[in-house]
Amino acid sequence: MTDAERRAALEAIAAEVRDCTRCRLHATRTNAVPGEGDPSTEVVFIGEGPGQNEDLEGRPFVGRAGGLLVNLLGHIGWTRDDVFITNIVKCRPPGNRDPEPDEVAACAPYLHRQLEALDPAVIVTLGRHSMGRFMPGARISQAHGTTGPVDPATGAEDATVFAMYHPAAALRTPSIERESYEDVARIPGVLLESRERRRVDRLARREAALAASAATAATSPIGPVIVDPDTDPTDQLTFF
Ligand code: URA
Ligand code: SF4
Repeated sequence: MTDAERRAALEAIAAEVRDCTRCRLHATRTNAVPGEGDPSTEVVFIGEGPGQNEDLEGRPFVGRAGGLLVNLLGHIGWTRDDVFITNIVKCRPPGNRDPEPDEVAACAPYLHRQLEALDPAVIVTLGRHSMGRFMPGARISQAHGTTGPVDPATGAEDATVFAMYHPAAALRTPSIERESYEDVARIPGVLLESRERRRVDRLARREAALAASAATAATSPIGPVIVDPDTDPTDQLTFF
């Protein structure tokens, strides 16, 4: 997918989210919050659901938790515009209650499609609810600061997940805030490893495709068909 195609796909999903009535959360929202960021980024941050400020502005992580997220990103020299930020549910649960399982299920296709379009190298989960989608059965106290492989059934074809505490938890508990700064500092290394793994995976796929087309060419009257599964240049996040 080209950058323009990614941008168009994300805008189409956002437009559907803004009009969505698939679950009861649509009835109490001011604005749906589809998510935002760089369409060609390699890193996606996923929170739980919009809070009051996000509901009023229609943008993710713009309240106090968002302020801390921006500070955490700044710790590794990144801004919110360098990454993509979204949530498990796109509309605010009233009174900031946890989203219900049927609301999470109703909203899941949007995140799936966003991840398909973004094809991130790294998914950073913020909090338990988001972690549950990508590291089923993990406990946040054990899993924060660690990585795992992402099931392609989530929409992210070839990603690594990195779990973090939710910034709202860090705001409540100083020790969690300290651990969050330690955790975020690992993300650039996680990205470098994932990038390398994806490069090797792509080379292996390309070699398999070339071998298959050579085998076909040996028996085909029309000669070799060159298959190049991935020639997309991706612009890359920098490190400091
Ligand atoms: N908390 C979340 O999980 N998401 C937001 O967008 C804001 C606060
Ligand atoms: Fe639609 Fe998701 Fe909002 Fe529910 S939370 S109304 S499924 S966009």
